[in-house]
Amino acid sequence: MRIRSSTKSAAFTLLELLVVIAVIAILSAILIPAIKGARERANEATCLANLRQCGTLILMYAADANGRMPASGPDGSWDDELLRNGLISDFSLTRQGCPEHRETLSATYGYNYMQLGNAQSPQIGSRPVLQIENPSETIMVADGHNLPSTTWPHLVYWEDSFWTGDRAPLGHREGINVVWADGHASWISIDKVYPMPPQKLPDLTQGYNLPVPYHFARIKTAP
Ligand SMILES: [Zn+2]
Repeated sequence: MRIRSSTKSAAFTLLELLVVIAVIAILSAILIPAIKGARERANEATCLANLRQCGTLILMYAADANGRMPASGPDGSWDDELLRNGLISDFSLTRQGCPEHRETLSATYGYNYMQLGNAQSPQIGSRPVLQIENPSETIMVADGHNLPSTTWPHLVYWEDSFWTGDRAPLGHREGINVVWADGHASWISIDKVYPMPPQKLPDLTQGYNLPVPYHFARIKTAP
């Protein structure tokens, strides 16, 4: 009697164990994606807030610099300008990049240097804010990459070759977070950032009046 009771008890315990394992497996299957999704949404919101702050700082810089945007160039990047101006005390906001991609060493926030501030291009220089034709649709800073081969850190790369393979945009949900030249920040589908095939990319040497039909900048003709 005792033996039968012991066997019955052990079998029941095994069954319970199997049920518990099954329940854990089911809960994991349900909860892990939900937790991952919640973490991704939190990172996306933090990223957007970071970019909004970058945009505010850049516009504050411009207000203090005769209405001109910071320029990346031989003396450093756009945020070196902010540092020199005293608007930031370190690069923790601007160079740690998107919180979703911190483990990726090249992750950073990129500046639209080819339209807004390029000290190595006399045509671009430090762009006057008032010359940006449509600030609410012109990227100022966005989720981006460092390029290992350049001494210019954290720029938005818009040449098609920069957006392939391991340089694919480090963003969110097939898109990137952007702070626009008017200071508002939003997510945008990557398709809307780069809708053109590579052969139609504009001539980047033309400076002010680039016929750019997408979200980098339409620039008013210099007076
Ligand atoms: Zn991001």
